[in-house]
Amino acid sequence: MSRSAANPHQHDEVQNVALHAERFAALLESFPEKMDRLERFDPEVLALLSDHGVWRSVHGSGGAEASLTTQCRWIEALAAKCTSTAVLVQSQLTVGHTILLSGSPIAGRLLEEMREGTIWGWGLTEAQAGSDILSMQTSAHLEGDGYLIRGSKRFISNAGIASKYLIFARTKRERSSKSISAFVVPSNANGLSIDRYEHKMGLRASPTGDVLLEDVRVPGIHMIGELGEGVGLALSTLRWSRPLIGAVSVGVARGAFEHLMRAVGSGERNLSDLARHQAKGHHIAELAIQVLAAKNLLYGVTTRADSTGELPSMWEAASTKAFCSEVAMKVASEALEIAGRASVSIDAPLQRCYRDAKILQIFEGTNQIQKNAIMKELGAVNFAQH
Ligand SMILES: Cc1cc2nc3c(=O)[nH]c(=O)nc-3n(C[C@H](O)[C@H](O)[C@H](O)COP(=O)(O)OP(=O)(O)OC[C@H]3O[C@@H](n4cnc5c(N)ncnc54)[C@H](O)[C@@H]3O)c2cc1C
Repeated sequence: MSRSAANPHQHDEVQNVALHAERFAALLESFPEKMDRLERFDPEVLALLSDHGVWRSVHGSGGAEASLTTQCRWIEALAAKCTSTAVLVQSQLTVGHTILLSGSPIAGRLLEEMREGTIWGWGLTEAQAGSDILSMQTSAHLEGDGYLIRGSKRFISNAGIASKYLIFARTKRERSSKSISAFVVPSNANGLSIDRYEHKMGLRASPTGDVLLEDVRVPGIHMIGELGEGVGLALSTLRWSRPLIGAVSVGVARGAFEHLMRAVGSGERNLSDLARHQAKGHHIAELAIQVLAAKNLLYGVTTRADSTGELPSMWEAASTKAFCSEVAMKVASEALEIAGRASVSIDAPLQRCYRDAKILQIFEGTNQIQKNAIMKELGAVNFAQH
C-alpha cells in the first residue's frame, strides 16, 4: 500500500477540505477552556469528530489515502481552536502513516478501524529513551506463534483513551537500528495498564501517560513491518509526522494571532489606537508576517510531497517542524505581551496558546534534534530546486 501523486483537481479539493475543517473546528470553540482546566478530554468532542465524518476526511476514503496537505489543513484548523484535539488527531495520523508504510497484511483492516474512529497511541519514548531511541529497554521475545512484550513507555499521548497502541520494542539485545520492531497492542490486552498521567503546563486536555507492559502477549501478525524494521519505520514516519506538528504549530500561531486581534480590537484599547503607536503596529505586523511565513513553508513542503507522491525529505520535515513551532512560541508569547493584562488570566485563551506552544518545541523531536537532522542532509541540498 502506498500514496499516489496528487491529481490536477487537488487544489479545489484542498480548498473544500479547508472549508470543511474550519467549519468543523468552529464547533470546538466552547471546549478548550473547560478541558484545559479539568485536564480531561471531553468525550463530546470525540462524538463530534465521529458524527461529522472527520476521521474519514483525515484518513481518506473510497480507496484513496488523504494527502499530507489535506491532513495538515485539518490539523491547522483544529489547532487554531483546540490544540489538544489537534494532537489527538495528529497522534492517530502518525500511527496511520506507519501502518500504511509497513505494508502489513493487517494494514487495511487497521486503517479502516481508524476511519471509523478507533483512537491510537504511538509508543516510542521511554524514561531513559527520548531523543536517543536506541536506548529503549522495552523488549519483545518470540514465544510460540506470538511475542511477549515487557517494559514501559513514557509520555504517550492518548494514553487511557486509545483503544490500540503501536509499541516499539527491542527484538535483539545489541544497540543497532535493526534491533527494534513495532507491534500493535490493544489497550485491553492482559498486562497492559496506564501507570500514571502527567500533569502538564500545556496541552492539558491531551492525556499523556506511562503505558506499562507486563508480559503482554500479541500474535505474530501484530508485528507491523518486518523483524528489526521498527527504527526504519519510525524514521520514515517522522518525515510525515513532523509536518503534521508544523500544522499544529501554524494553527496555534494563527489562533494566538486571532485572539490578539480580538483583544486589541475590543474594549478599552482598540487596534487603531495601538496602530497609532507605530512601534506597536509594527510589532503586530511582524507577527502577521511570521504566521504567513510558517504557513507558506508548511504548505510548500506538503504540496511538493503530494505532487510527487514522495515523502518530504528528512531535512524539509525537520525544518518545517522547527520553524513553525518557533513561530507558534514567538507569536503566542508576543501576542500575550501586546494584549496585556487581560490575557494573563487563567481562563484567557492567549495564555493557553502560550502554554501549548512551548510543548511544540519539545515533542516529536526537540528543535535541537531537528537541527541535527537538517545538518545531516544539508550537503546534498540544492536550494535551486525548492
Ligand atoms: C506532551 C508530550 C506528548 C508526547 N507524546 C509522545 C507520544 O505520543 N509518543 C512518544 O513516543 N513520545 C511522546 N513524547 C515524547 C517526546 O517525543 C520526547 O519528549 C522528545 O522526543 C524529547 O525527548 P526527551 O524529552 O526525553 O528529551 P531528551 O532526549 O532527554 O533531551 C533533553 C535535552 O537535550 C537535548 N538533546 C538531546 N540529545 C541531543 C543531541 N544529540 N544534540 C543536541 N541536543 C540534544 C534536547 O534537545 C533537549 O533539549 C511526548 C512528549 C510530550 C512533552
